[in-house]
Amino acid sequence: MLKNILSKESCAQCQLCCIFDKYDIWETPVVSDELYEKIKNEYPETEFIEKNEGGRILKCIPDGELFNCPMLDKSSGCRLGDEKPFDCRIWPYRIMEFGGKRVITIASICPEMYKKPLSELVAELEENGLAEKIWNEANRHPEIVKPYQKGYPILLTE
Ligand code: SF4
Repeated sequence: MLKNILSKESCAQCQLCCIFDKYDIWETPVVSDELYEKIKNEYPETEFIEKNEGGRILKCIPDGELFNCPMLDKSSGCRLGDEKPFDCRIWPYRIMEFGGKRVITIASICPEMYKKPLSELVAELEENGLAEKIWNEANRHPEIVKPYQKGYPILLTE
């Protein structure tokens, strides 16, 4: 979804957004009902966590002090390919709730995107219809909206 601004090659080499630590484990992607069924069929060993506020996330696999997404194949990347969760397709853009409004933010942990000027990050959202897609997906699946986290620059407010 971000192919205009973020190359597949950079993502395949980096994989930072698929491995979590105790501070960003809350970033584990939310999985839609359809994707849940697909993963259960194709990868029956995968575990999920039901969130109190609705929706479910993939249960990560501990690896030392880190936690790996169970869909990550370290040699070839995400095993879900283009069917990865919406959260992952827009990462490092994030949709959050801030002061009663939905906002689109950016995760500073993405080295490729975070070095770009904020104006370019906002333009990508506005000019290619990406913001519209994010708001619409959040209307259908409010569980993808995360509480605002300090340190995430706000790029757009609804
Ligand atoms: S679902 Fe795929 S893209 Fe998303 S965190 Fe897991 S391995 Fe990474």
